[in-house]
Amino acid sequence: MRAEPLSLREQARRALDDGELQRALAVVRRGWQDTRRRAIDELPEFDELREIGARIRDHVLAHLDIYLERFAERVRAAGGEVHVARDAAEARALVLRLLEQHRARRVTKSKSMVCEEIGLAEAMEEAGLERVETDLGEYIIQLAGERPSHLIGPAVHITQERIRDLFARHHQSDPDNTPEALVAEARQVLRRHYLEADAGITGANFLVADTGSVITVTNEGNAELTQGLPRLHIVVAGIEKLVPRMEDAFTLLRLLARSATGQEFSAYTTIITGPRREGDLDGPEAFHVVLVDNGRSDLLATRFRPILRCIRCGACMNHCPVYLAIGGHAYGWVYVGPMGAVLTPHFLGIEKAYPLPEASTFCGRCEEVCPVRIPLPGLLRYWREEAFRRRVHGPSVRAGLGIWAWIALRPRLYRFVVGLASWSLRALGGRRGRIRRLPGASGWTRSRDFPAPEGGGFVAGWNRGRRR
Ligand code: SF4
Repeated sequence: MRAEPLSLREQARRALDDGELQRALAVVRRGWQDTRRRAIDELPEFDELREIGARIRDHVLAHLDIYLERFAERVRAAGGEVHVARDAAEARALVLRLLEQHRARRVTKSKSMVCEEIGLAEAMEEAGLERVETDLGEYIIQLAGERPSHLIGPAVHITQERIRDLFARHHQSDPDNTPEALVAEARQVLRRHYLEADAGITGANFLVADTGSVITVTNEGNAELTQGLPRLHIVVAGIEKLVPRMEDAFTLLRLLARSATGQEFSAYTTIITGPRREGDLDGPEAFHVVLVDNGRSDLLATRFRPILRCIRCGACMNHCPVYLAIGGHAYGWVYVGPMGAVLTPHFLGIEKAYPLPEASTFCGRCEEVCPVRIPLPGLLRYWREEAFRRRVHGPSVRAGLGIWAWIALRPRLYRFVVGLASWSLRALGGRRGRIRRLPGASGWTRSRDFPAPEGGGFVAGWNRGRRR
């Protein structure tokens, strides 16, 4: 049976008409791009650091089996336990079993994309467990009953007015509260949950193989309270989060903070190694790490392997013209923006997710800003090829692409067709040089004029350059 494709086109149309979302996205555009640029300008060796970062990630991916074993050994030596889940169902079952074994019913949880990926929140709800998200953005979307729309700013699509309404409804607080009062209110509510929780679930930014340590970074300190106060701490992390040594983790942390929020370093960087030891003032009595594969080891053997370098900084979406126009929810699943358009077809199948790799202008900004140099446009192109190969499109699209490929492979014919098309567009543009309605492609001109081509085109320019 043919999978029902993600409804990206329809979602995108709705997103473009959503004034509240458009206001929220304008903040991402202005805020995070500028802060990243400033932070990078202040670090002349940033590009060198990116090379090192990419090398560290590639090295780990090439030796993942060795580092996984080493990490597990070190965690056990420190008094913790490591479990490996082959897929999402196994990961959910493992976490629920650990919670049951430790009689944990009230759970605090800090932000973790892999928990979203495996559907942990829904599984906990079905099991009747109380779950409270402790990252402020995640807490807001939990109240709103929504999904995150960004890797590092899960509630970036929600405006201040809406947060005020949500808090007033759920906390019976003053509906005219200032932003400062809203933050204080959330802090007050979350404090009670931290103190009452039986278990804390966190993700991990990095797992250090040499020491068996788990590193988390936040700007709110919520992961620290989530992992340090309850008697049980469960870490849920993808197997690709490993790094060989602590200094490798710090190289990547320098890239992560600058690329994500434009900070030199996140406000809180916490390194946890095993459960509470004798003499420790706090920390959990039991410490478990659930390592999630869920198809990652299959990716290792494919041309999509570079996506496993991803350190979840969000820079690619902050600079993507498509993400900045339609936001994260239009992508229809957990991972959004360019990295999501590469990852989601792997998880859901290209038959279902083929609209995502098509939602790209191929401007290359995502690759330019990626701190670990993931060739995102190239990977999106592979998915487009794969979609064509697996015949996921209807006959008219396939015929169109087939004709295009046939022409593109014949340089003389290609030049003739492109020349004819340019001449026709110029004629249509008239003296104004702008086309009001494009025949056969009216979508392009529905909300703006189409500019008629100028000059002699790329090939003519190229030939002129060679003659000089
Ligand atoms: S693909 Fe690159 S830029 Fe995008 S989230 Fe991952 S590391 Fe960051």
